Amino acid sequence: MHILIVEDEKPLSDEIKKYLEPEGFSCDEAYTGRIASDKLWANSYDVVLLDLGLPDYDGIDLLKEMITAKKDSAVIILSARSSLDDKIKGLDLGADDYLPKPFSLLELKSRILAVTRRKHGIKGNLIKINELDIDLDKRLVFCKEHQLPLTRKEYDILVFLVLNKNRVVTRLQISEHIWGDIIEENYNSNYIDVHIKNLRKKIADQSEADYLETIRGVGFRFNTVDF
Ligand code: CA
Repeated sequence: MHILIVEDEKPLSDEIKKYLEPEGFSCDEAYTGRIASDKLWANSYDVVLLDLGLPDYDGIDLLKEMITAKKDSAVIILSARSSLDDKIKGLDLGADDYLPKPFSLLELKSRILAVTRRKHGIKGNLIKINELDIDLDKRLVFCKEHQLPLTRKEYDILVFLVLNKNRVVTRLQISEHIWGDIIEENYNSNYIDVHIKNLRKKIADQSEADYLETIRGVGFRFNTVDF
């Protein structure tokens, strides 16, 4: 999952990144509103953590920009401003959640998972799809009750495809989602195909069905199948 942290308090931003990355999130940081705005235009994020008090920007204006640009990232406002006004304004504008500072990183993580689930219409921490059971909290995938030995990247790619089920997801979208900015120079590489191949093989070890479809020259689609 690709996250943008918009926060001018560098130590806090770094602390969030340091906590989230080992938990399987890829994080970009923007210490100013200007940088955040550029990153929002250039990339697509699953979740944006938005501090309202930025040196050069009002966070609310950034939120308005995202809405104008029809960015479909979920937004969690992080703010020391405890004014009810800001909270209401943010939520009215379409932010998905509001977390007052100081907050615990564990709480932040659970809010991130919650807004992501809500955005995709998932209730609870479990996704049941085709023959798969995915535990989003524990990051485990079972196929017909056998746990699949997925690597972190394979898990991330699978969940991303599942959340966008029955839709074609391009290689670029997968790169952005999994690797964030880093991949931009070399997203044409066959990394993704290798991961998909391994993923497909691990599912095939447990199931006859093949629901990971390759759309030649474009990307991949996870198809829902009736059993
Ligand atoms: Ca601030």
